[in-house]
Amino acid sequence: MKRTNISIFIPHIGCPHRCSFCDQRTISGAQKPPTADEVSALLCGQAPHLTENGTLAQIAFFGGSFTAIPRGYMEELLKAASDAVKRFPCYTGIRCSTRPDCISEEILELLASYGMTAIELGAQSMNDEVLKANERGHTADDVRRAARLIRQSGIELGLQMMTGLYKDTPERCLYTADEFIKLSPDTVRIYPTVILKNTTLGSLYEKGEYKSFGFDETVELCAKLLSIFESNNIQVIRLGLHSSGDISRDMLGGVYHPAFREIVESRAVLRALTERFNALPNGNYAVFTDKRNISRVIGQKRCNIRALGALGYNIIVKEREGETLDIAPQKEI
Ligand code: SF4
Repeated sequence: MKRTNISIFIPHIGCPHRCSFCDQRTISGAQKPPTADEVSALLCGQAPHLTENGTLAQIAFFGGSFTAIPRGYMEELLKAASDAVKRFPCYTGIRCSTRPDCISEEILELLASYGMTAIELGAQSMNDEVLKANERGHTADDVRRAARLIRQSGIELGLQMMTGLYKDTPERCLYTADEFIKLSPDTVRIYPTVILKNTTLGSLYEKGEYKSFGFDETVELCAKLLSIFESNNIQVIRLGLHSSGDISRDMLGGVYHPAFREIVESRAVLRALTERFNALPNGNYAVFTDKRNISRVIGQKRCNIRALGALGYNIIVKEREGETLDIAPQKEI
């Protein structure tokens, strides 16, 4: 059964101010928040297609600080979503993203009463200097407090982090991952910073006072982060910004690639293979892997084959059902 989100963007609604990196109108392409009637119409319209394709969907309110939007408007949106969940079996729940300083027991009770199934906290970093430099207006302790309350409420917890913000370092990103793990999130999203026009980061970048991490550095870092979360049984549900808008038009720098996850997963495979080959003599080898893993083992434009070749390991990749990664000398095949 396929699963997806039907994303409903409420650009910047509920946000007390604009964070240094954020322009939701560019990222989402949404210029104005929808009315509850528009949400109902969208969900009714999508239901037959989802059902026909055998797809289950969560209704996702993204792009603003959902728990801080005006209460009347919030309840109208929640009612539209919860009515759709009751009416159409293809909708399995409701999720939202919000700020860590906009979570209280009272709001969690209200969200639960409408059937909210998951809340994603935009934590971005667990380093207070990075949070301050990027005008987040909350601390790492706010993230810890909000995460604890969400866990206690029984609603699924998602945490979102960014890499390469102003004053960020790879070590601070790895620290953020360690701190996330202590909060036991169900899911994590990792967003490398994209520097956009008309943002504080954009101005700092244009003045030469800031540049984000480079592409390769970010791929390497995200491959480490992915391994850390996966080895702690935490699902990484997004790697790299998803843009419904025209991000290339407003992007000044930073890291964006539509196939970013594939590139990172491929790098993670290269790291795992390199570690195993380091214990073997140079020579010709076959790597066996499952069909869906083959492109990750080979890498974009055969980059993993070339990287291993440069280390003295000439490999061919062969399909073997159910195999993650198995290595054998070529003469034994
Ligand atoms: S990062 Fe989140 S809180 Fe900050 S402006 Fe964007 S949507 Fe609002």
